Amino acid sequence: MIIIGDDVDSIFDNKASLHRIFEIKDLGSLSYFLGLEVISIDDGIYLCQAKYASDLLTRAGITDSRIKSTPLEPNRRLEDVRSRNLFFSDPYLNSMPVHMQTLHMVGGLGETSYASNSLIQREGVLKTQPILEEAIMNVYGNDLSSCFRLADLGCSSGPNALLVASNIIAIVDAISHTLNRDPPALQFFLNDLFGNDFNSIFKALPDLYKRMEQEKGPRSRPCFFNATLGSFYGRVYPSNSINFFHSSFGQHFLSQPPKGLKKEGEEVNKGNTYFTSTTPPAVYNAYLKQFKEDFNVFLKSRSEELVPNGGMVLVFFGRDAKDETKSMITPWALVGIVLNDMVLENIVEEAKLDSFNFPIYAPTIDEVKETIEAEGSFSLERMELIKYGWEAGLITNNSNDDGELLVDEGTKGEYIAKYVRAITEPLLKAHFGESIMDPLFIRYKNKVAKLLEVQTLGHSILAMFMTKKCLN
Ligand code: SAH
Repeated sequence: MIIIGDDVDSIFDNKASLHRIFEIKDLGSLSYFLGLEVISIDDGIYLCQAKYASDLLTRAGITDSRIKSTPLEPNRRLEDVRSRNLFFSDPYLNSMPVHMQTLHMVGGLGETSYASNSLIQREGVLKTQPILEEAIMNVYGNDLSSCFRLADLGCSSGPNALLVASNIIAIVDAISHTLNRDPPALQFFLNDLFGNDFNSIFKALPDLYKRMEQEKGPRSRPCFFNATLGSFYGRVYPSNSINFFHSSFGQHFLSQPPKGLKKEGEEVNKGNTYFTSTTPPAVYNAYLKQFKEDFNVFLKSRSEELVPNGGMVLVFFGRDAKDETKSMITPWALVGIVLNDMVLENIVEEAKLDSFNFPIYAPTIDEVKETIEAEGSFSLERMELIKYGWEAGLITNNSNDDGELLVDEGTKGEYIAKYVRAITEPLLKAHFGESIMDPLFIRYKNKVAKLLEVQTLGHSILAMFMTKKCLN
């Protein structure tokens, strides 16, 4: 270690405090470093390469050669550097599918942000907490390492990004207490795509640390947060490095809109933005095929990254096969219905609507099971389908004794339109342009309010816990 400064007393204090913690040996004033001669004089420090050059000449046996000035023009600029630098010449981003560059939840803390409109996902995370508890009990209970590494895939931004981490911290602490074990160091890896607003998560960390300190004291358990950017449809972490994966509301996002929705120049899913009970089977099959391909890559990648006996909890939008015969209303198909109205009003071009398909797929339990079995790396320990209304999570002081919300359909419609906007706006804006966003979501809100007058609208979510198979 080299200590440099212009105040001899503080250098001395610095050395003394280092000495209290570490065994150190003081080598005195610096005279040579990595072949550089260091000369200290009253008005500064001079670095000189003469000794290095003369040592090189001695080693090469050419000390008696004649001296000549350098052939390299002084001040010559290295223009080539830019073309050799990967960042300038071949941005990694440009080789990703276009939608991966566009996909992200609305960042920041504003009115339309994901942070302000993610109570519906929070509700899902809370409802599936028993599965998370069972999973951590199983995986952490069988792990004796002093550092437990967890990754949250598709963490997004806003309160939910750290909600899962703080839930997991509480669960690990409770289990450690029950098992009479010292809590391990926890290392969290937060993952999302490149457009995600990671800054707002980092800004919320001091608050989390403060709460942890208030609850447990400063030395309770070391906890470290890292961010790892990249698509979870591929490798994100080194092999054998993660003990536990968690992901909520991520895997219904496909890596791209389904392939094959354009045949001989014609759009197959005309007038729709998703599949519905009346779309041709080819559309549904293309969606299912894309989901299976993506989920297979997801499972393969995670199984390589998990340590033996590692586990994973996933929660994402699914659908109940029993609802198949009824007309299915999904938030994503409803965007298509509203866009159709806007085509009739000449606000949206028909061809634009015809060529847009959400890269989202909500699978059935059987479709997920089949994919896990076919891929083969995981044992499915538990899977559940949980249902709740589109208005779940809406906070109001008005509810009756049974917990039923006493709010009008307009308020519910507004709440729902806002969270659908926070999820879908970047994708829609990239295809249709910003100008139609406000008119689209005003109509969306009204459409939802009208529907709620005559029927209930429900989400189905799938929550599952799986462990990595140990192949001996
Ligand atoms: N887990 C949070 C956020 C869910 S929103 C919660 O429960 O509230 C889904 C997140 O998944 C978004 O932030 C989106 O950018 C991210 N995501 C979607 N596809 C992804 C991919 N292929 N790789 C990494 N993140 C992805």
